Amino acid sequence: MKADTPIGNRIKTIGATLPQGVTLIAVSKYHPVAAIQAAYDAGQRDFGESKAQDLRIKQQELPSDIRWHFIGHLQSNKIKYIAPFVHLIHSIDSYRLLQEVNKHGEKCNRRIPCLLQIHIAQEDTKFGFTPSECLEMLADGEWKQLSNIEIHGLMCMASNTEDTATVSGEFSAVKELFEKIKREFFPYDNKFNTLSAGMSDDYPIAIEHGSTHIRIGSSIFND
Ligand SMILES: *Cc1c(COP(=O)(O)O)cnc(C)c1O
Repeated sequence: MKADTPIGNRIKTIGATLPQGVTLIAVSKYHPVAAIQAAYDAGQRDFGESKAQDLRIKQQELPSDIRWHFIGHLQSNKIKYIAPFVHLIHSIDSYRLLQEVNKHGEKCNRRIPCLLQIHIAQEDTKFGFTPSECLEMLADGEWKQLSNIEIHGLMCMASNTEDTATVSGEFSAVKELFEKIKREFFPYDNKFNTLSAGMSDDYPIAIEHGSTHIRIGSSIFND
């Protein structure tokens, strides 16, 4: 075991507060390989990145048992950098993108796990399906033909506000949507089990509302 590092200590501190069944994803975007290695040495295995090319480079330099999560806005022409190995794409924000990821899954001969990103926050800068767009897309049923992707659940970002009632209301709405989609479209699919919600400033609230995967960047990597 390596000596304690500040990054390693913060991982352990946050990890100790999490209920069973909640996965901590260390969001390492903008942070160098050495910082990720420090987290890895503390036992962290799930990492999130928001740029496909950065993710590709880091993946090549770091241990092969890391589970890489893609959490940023994904452009079709960048899918190729991550398709062979990505563990979970959190940020599917259009049916078109799901189709494109499926094509790359076919080329790599794998089924790529994906989450549908739900636009729930007040800000209009955030990507994603509105709840009704998401339900329409699923009801349409065409996605069932896509045999090289798997839909594992939903992802969301709450409004960036101090107002915890707003944040709580948003997480609660997405949890309800998750349950509805599970019931209507994936009742017998055990793989539809992932709700990716919560960041450094709001993850305890997200966990109260059923988050299974929290995405923590600054609380781990910023001094
Ligand atoms: C950057 C980012 C995070 C981590 O945010 P912090 O506030 O640094 O914890 C989580 N999710 C997404 C989609 C991000 O882009």
